[in-house]
Amino acid sequence: MPKLNENYQNLKESYLFVEIAHRVAEYTKANPDKKVIRLGIGDVTLPLEPLAVDALHEGVDAMTSTETFKGYGPEQGYEFLRNAVVDYYAENGVSIHADDVFISDGAKSDTGNIGDLFATDNVVLIPDPVYPVYVDSNIMTGRQITYIDANADNNFLPLPDKNVHADIIYICSPNNPTGATYNKEQLKEWVDYALENEAVILFDSAYEAFITDPELPRSIYAIEGAKKCAIEFCSLSKTAGFTGTRCGYTIVPKELVFKASNGEEMSVNAMWNRRQSTKFNGTSYIVQKGAAAVFTKEGMAQCKENIAYYQENARVISETLAKKGIRYFGGENSPYIWFECPNGMDSWDFFDYLLNNAQVVGTPGAGFGKNGQNFFRLTSFGTHESTKEAMERFEKLF
Ligand SMILES: *Cc1c(COP(=O)(O)O)cnc(C)c1O
Repeated sequence: MPKLNENYQNLKESYLFVEIAHRVAEYTKANPDKKVIRLGIGDVTLPLEPLAVDALHEGVDAMTSTETFKGYGPEQGYEFLRNAVVDYYAENGVSIHADDVFISDGAKSDTGNIGDLFATDNVVLIPDPVYPVYVDSNIMTGRQITYIDANADNNFLPLPDKNVHADIIYICSPNNPTGATYNKEQLKEWVDYALENEAVILFDSAYEAFITDPELPRSIYAIEGAKKCAIEFCSLSKTAGFTGTRCGYTIVPKELVFKASNGEEMSVNAMWNRRQSTKFNGTSYIVQKGAAAVFTKEGMAQCKENIAYYQENARVISETLAKKGIRYFGGENSPYIWFECPNGMDSWDFFDYLLNNAQVVGTPGAGFGKNGQNFFRLTSFGTHESTKEAMERFEKLF
């Protein structure tokens, strides 16, 4: 009999979206004539941009003849795409090297798999509330987690406590679920803290494309010293609607070097390269062709149009909340709007209240951690029409 990884017994049942689906199904069954509007999903809804679709087709066509056929590609991704990522960063004023770029099938895999490079007995710092992947992937390997509170008092942007040591720090900015985004000064505090503690920051920038404020950093490498302490994860999922197409990229700078217990220096870039070459056989050529089209000037312009569509929804939602005097976070440089449940309601009670009285589905904050207990997440990924209608209904409540 195999001895199992019993850390899996320590995982909490991931019942959030199951429970939401269950409650919505019950409601629809009892009220078949009522039109339910879903503003709870964390998935994009607009189709792929035409330029990416054309490039995907070209990728398929290449597979049809011996001359252009592609078999196994480089595990790190094709050079044409890694160079496109480098250029994209350069346009945002950040210089990175193509050897530091690793193309993958998405940021979820990479943020989950990066744990392979680190020992079990590290102090892992994770903000609460949080994207559940960080928590569960660490529990699976038996790592202890130290939580730091993100709450209304710190605008859901916790800063390092210099009296507490950490080895591995997770940061997601713009944040899912809170929509809160660190500015340069705040992010610098984290970088300085990581350098001081010889810690590594795992920086998730999946929503960087939603940042419109030019003062806000879209990459942690906009902060001096970050290449010595941070790995950055990004993806075309939210930027270009690639949630179903799958393409991400992770930046592991060559400057990221730590001392092993035998005194030898180990390059994290070399470790990740070895890890990926061993356990991953690369993202499909076809998808990488599509991704490269996204990074062209015209491709990015098309992305911006789609993002602007979602941002208009975020504006409508934020405006309604402001009108009702509800305290909210995000919604500006993020597709998420995170607000305090009215009248001191608990997030699941508010979920039921909103479903029963306005037929609007959102996500209870409790599903992202204890600090989400009295908060609620709405997303801007719906249509203009449904978002507007949902907010008209919302305005008539309480
Ligand atoms: C959506 C999302 C991602 C992207 O994951 P993919 O695997 O690239 O689709 C990464 N991080 C966060 C916090 C997200 O919400």
